[in-house]
Amino acid sequence: MDLPAQLGSLLRAGAVLTGDDMSAYLQDWWGRQTGPALCVALPKTTEDVAAIVRACADAGRAIVPQGGRTGLTGAGVPGACDRPPVILSLSQMRRIRKIDAINGSIDVDAGCVLSDVQYAAICMNRLFPISLGSEGSCQIGGIISTNAGGTNVLRYGTTRENVLGLEVVLPDGTTWDGMKALRKDNAGYALRHMFIGAEGTLGIITGAVLKLHPLPNVHSTAWVGVADPELALRLLNRLQSCCGERLTTFELMNEEQLASVIAYRPIAASPIDAPWHLLIELADMSGPELLSEMLLASLEAAMNASEILDAAIAQNGTQRDNFWALRHGTADANRNIGHVLSADISVSVSSVPRFLTAASAAVRTLYPEAQIVVVSHMGDGNVHFAVRFSHRDWGRYDDPAGTVVAIRTIVNDCADALGGSFSAEHGIGRKLIDELRKRTDQAGFQSMQRLKDAFDPQGIMNPGCVLGEQDQVS
Ligand SMILES: Cc1cc2nc3c(=O)[nH]c(=O)nc-3n(C[C@H](O)[C@H](O)[C@H](O)COP(=O)(O)OP(=O)(O)OC[C@H]3O[C@@H](n4cnc5c(N)ncnc54)[C@H](O)[C@@H]3O)c2cc1C
Repeated sequence: MDLPAQLGSLLRAGAVLTGDDMSAYLQDWWGRQTGPALCVALPKTTEDVAAIVRACADAGRAIVPQGGRTGLTGAGVPGACDRPPVILSLSQMRRIRKIDAINGSIDVDAGCVLSDVQYAAICMNRLFPISLGSEGSCQIGGIISTNAGGTNVLRYGTTRENVLGLEVVLPDGTTWDGMKALRKDNAGYALRHMFIGAEGTLGIITGAVLKLHPLPNVHSTAWVGVADPELALRLLNRLQSCCGERLTTFELMNEEQLASVIAYRPIAASPIDAPWHLLIELADMSGPELLSEMLLASLEAAMNASEILDAAIAQNGTQRDNFWALRHGTADANRNIGHVLSADISVSVSSVPRFLTAASAAVRTLYPEAQIVVVSHMGDGNVHFAVRFSHRDWGRYDDPAGTVVAIRTIVNDCADALGGSFSAEHGIGRKLIDELRKRTDQAGFQSMQRLKDAFDPQGIMNPGCVLGEQDQVS
């Protein structure tokens, strides 16, 4: 029996797709990464996943674990290969297993969509704080495997800080049950951290215990214009001093980014005319007046100190939603307008202005026809630095692949020079393997290889992803 038929016999009817039925599973969100697959398996339970992995391990067949395919490094779909893998999609595993509001924890299947988990938490008057533009599609297993960040990291940390326990099917088909809902647990190595950010190369996450927080019932949101990122930094410092933990969001974008969001989908007008824009949000459980007074007082003081050009505070839920729509519209605009090459770097928060100055100057010198488009989780030191070409200009390059590498190198060198990282929150995937090799010290890279070999000696888990070709199934 061939492998798809064998998997079909292990699962319920209709749970293995082949041929044209696979097409929706073969392409990532950008539409840039696609590759062949032997079949798509759609397990419903952890036992199903274990059975699929055992069968693939016996057959020496690679597996690509797949969530919502919103990842931005091409890791959730197969790459070009001679021996197509099995795609293991978690999309049918969507059970909320348990919520413990007092403990502040929620147990979920890894295929739960992020927004469903956020909603389940709200129903219990709690917050699951990870929030991304893709939250209506990305899955819990996907955000854990990429250690996603998003717009609330400033206060609540990345996904890593919000995972208490995991259940993982290991590459030999055994299941590790680490579904502990504990704040303190020093019993041996913290295994869950091996799988967080591993991009499906060490095992398949089937369940997770996530940390919940008290649900803020009051928000105060402002759209602020500043002359440059250095002044934005001063405002950040002021808000952190005045508002402390209440500051949940501090997002920066340049006017080119805002203009493209509005041009692509005119959902809302620009609230302010300025070269740089900030979306700022405070959240708390106190009365609404206190929070908006606090924000207003800080912005007035910033205005008097000539730190900001103008500000608009949302007066109601609709205005708040409009501000957020402008922020969440950036990814769609960048995907659809021109040809965009995007970097996802991080530096220390105080170095963001220096990075922006250096990277912009370096790119403009060599590619004066390109437009620089910036959107930044500035409060976390994370910059999405995009270089946009018109399709006509891009079509003139004889060596597009070489140009991609050249621009990536210029931008990542600027982050490196400031002690930063070339991969802040999107991971390595199939896109940044060469950068990982080039920019990680030898001891670090070898340790990663040893870790991979220890967990996955056959190299069947998402081969070619993160560490590159040496991981191909032998
Ligand atoms: C509009 C938009 C906005 C975004 N904004 C942000 C943002 O602000 N911050 C941010 O950090 N990211 C952002 N992202 C990217 C982000 O990486 C993904 O949204 C998400 O983290 C990946 O989840 P997914 O379920 O789509 O996973 P996929 O894309 O399907 O897979 C991603 C990786 O996880 C692995 N994987 C998936 N599920 C499992 C599992 N159960 N077990 C093991 N491995 C698994 C895959 O093999 C792959 O390596 C954005 C993306 C989009 C499209």
